[in-house]
Amino acid sequence: MSALEIDDVAVEFATESGPVRALDGASLTVRPGSSVAIVGESGSGKSTLASLIGRLQPGNARIVRGSVHVDGRDVAQLDTRALRELRRTMLGSVPQDPIESLDPTLRIGRQLQLVLRLAGKDSGVPARRALLEGVRIDDPDRVLRLHPHEVSGGMAQRIAIAIAMCRSPRILVADEPTAALDAQVREDVIRLMFEQARATGTTIVWLSHDLPTVARWCDEVAVMYAGRIVEHGPAAEVLGSPVHPYTRALAAADPTRVRQGERLASIGGGPPVLHAEADGCAFAPRCAFADDACSAGRPGPSTLRGRVHLCRRAEALERLEVSS
Ligand code: ATP
Ligand code: MG
Repeated sequence: MSALEIDDVAVEFATESGPVRALDGASLTVRPGSSVAIVGESGSGKSTLASLIGRLQPGNARIVRGSVHVDGRDVAQLDTRALRELRRTMLGSVPQDPIESLDPTLRIGRQLQLVLRLAGKDSGVPARRALLEGVRIDDPDRVLRLHPHEVSGGMAQRIAIAIAMCRSPRILVADEPTAALDAQVREDVIRLMFEQARATGTTIVWLSHDLPTVARWCDEVAVMYAGRIVEHGPAAEVLGSPVHPYTRALAAADPTRVRQGERLASIGGGPPVLHAEADGCAFAPRCAFADDACSAGRPGPSTLRGRVHLCRRAEALERLEVSS
């Protein structure tokens, strides 16, 4: 059974200027115990997709079609109690802004006590200390006494990972922090997250802009564009020799720019904000390889070199490359 099965999901947000279609037929299957990164430019739908896993989408979101199964259970069908149970036992999350997710009025130690108690674990001071030591915080006694605003961004990330992992969740959903962390701190925090997850067999869904790190740590990568997964397969292979023109452009862009989540230098324009279902391939207007048919017909999934992709011209492009 898949840890996660997202099937042809379309989601619209109600806004003052009309509906915004954040997901437009996104599909993704994740094997238990594996790690998948979801990459793509800002606004491509990563956070919206991830929010569906725990039915945590914003209130103005409407699921137009499709389904989300976690551990074989249809998330939309769960009653309040079953949903709470799923969130409590199955899911952990590392939020995009961890300091925001901590209670500003409580010391770190007190928050860890509450989290441990909720997880049904020993919540005494040695257990709280051990939780921080687990994420390589060298001076846990000092940190336990601090309030959230007194810790650095890197420290807050570690605490968020410790909180997320303390229940040994089956699935960890981590939204890459937008706050600029020092490169070494980032690397350490990411290593920690993957090491902890591997030790416990936790499935990781990691939303990221950092392609080199994704290639290094993740089993698989799913590339999002305008609310669809346009290419999905083994991370190093997808990023090393992409099949979809959008992945090609993404992988060719300057990785430091990608890391900062800026608009990609190598492709002109930006991703579209959809208001209704896209007729053809949403990338066609920016694609160097598109022909007229690309804008006309909605591309269906195909398989090439071990990945699933949504480019009707992918095979023709490969033949061109081989013969050139
Ligand atoms: P980033 O890399 O910046 O985090 P993302 O890939 O996570 O971007 P989403 O946050 O999922 O992108 O947004 C997808 C689209 O939906 C964007 O056009 C965004 O403006 C829109 N959107 C997201 N949340 C809402 C909301 N609550 N109300 C209205 N529109 C929204
Ligand atoms: Mg996001």
